[in-house]
Amino acid sequence: MRYDVIVLGGGPAGLSAAVAARGRNKSVLVVGNRWQDSPLARAERVDNYLGLPGVTGMELLEQFRRHAEEMGADFVLGRVISLMAWNGFHLTVGSELYEGETLVLAPGVVRQAKYPGEAEYLGRGVSYCATCDGMLYRGKPVAVVGRSGDAPREAAYLKSLGCQVVYVAPKRPTALEPDIPFLQANRLEIAGAQTVTTLVADGAPIPCSGVFILRDAVAPTDLLPQLETLGGSIRVDRSMATSIPGVFAAGDCTGGPLQVSKAVGEGLIAALSAAEFLDRRGAESPAGGT
Ligand SMILES: Cc1cc2nc3c(=O)[nH]c(=O)nc-3n(C[C@H](O)[C@H](O)[C@H](O)COP(=O)(O)OP(=O)(O)OC[C@H]3O[C@@H](n4cnc5c(N)ncnc54)[C@H](O)[C@@H]3O)c2cc1C
Repeated sequence: MRYDVIVLGGGPAGLSAAVAARGRNKSVLVVGNRWQDSPLARAERVDNYLGLPGVTGMELLEQFRRHAEEMGADFVLGRVISLMAWNGFHLTVGSELYEGETLVLAPGVVRQAKYPGEAEYLGRGVSYCATCDGMLYRGKPVAVVGRSGDAPREAAYLKSLGCQVVYVAPKRPTALEPDIPFLQANRLEIAGAQTVTTLVADGAPIPCSGVFILRDAVAPTDLLPQLETLGGSIRVDRSMATSIPGVFAAGDCTGGPLQVSKAVGEGLIAALSAAEFLDRRGAESPAGGT
């Protein structure tokens, strides 16, 4: 199915966008990590959300999610690892592809800094997705940098392909298969020539052909490199339109204040703008449909 609106991120901004887009009778797919993974879930007490002082972050998120479900939004759980803006928008989660006419980016703030060498070797040995790129490394030594909950599973998948896997993380995850070698390290650097040859972990070189960096979230600018930013945030106008036609953004990803009320308000505006974009295009097309 091709959705009218695809929302990336299931936090307050994304869920608000989903509710507003459904209110305009658009089909909506929300793609994101678990709603419990929003940073708001860690707020023990939220005192500044209008009308609901003293609520916990978890309670708010639960209500937001239920509301979006009741309005008829569809949901896909998982990390978006690639995004293509061509003939609409195509998002990849694992090996599944999802299509939409418009896109609302609501991924929050992706806080992890890049490792030295990561950007330089992206696509030349550095990958964010074992499921997508694993076959390219069949029979070769690879390092998995495990920063997400599903990283042990991805490491097991690489091993099943015949890769010689080393798992690198600050702490050994309990879900890691016992026969996958683990290396505890914090400071990482990726080195190579034309392609990756080494992961340097706390000063120790690990020879490898591929480095799979598996984080909970991928920055929107890594997903859509043509997206314009301002001061590290996605640049938007007052209709929450980004520099790419058909792409809107809302919430923490557009900059401060990093607050729920702002995220919810921007989610609403982004979705209404996406609906307007679709309606205008429908009216302009010869057939008159969206
Ligand atoms: C401890 C704490 C306390 C806070 N207390 C308050 C408070 O009292 N009042 C207040 O107003 N605000 C508070 N905040 C801030 C508030 O949580 C944020 O402003 C709000 O959550 C922003 O919503 P958002 O939808 O923009 O982003 P987020 O809530 O960050 O949601 C984005 C979601 O998208 C997911 N995502 C990102 N990239 C991808 C990807 N590539 N694939 C799949 N999923 C992806 C993320 O995992 C996340 O679940 C607090 C924050 C923290 C950390």
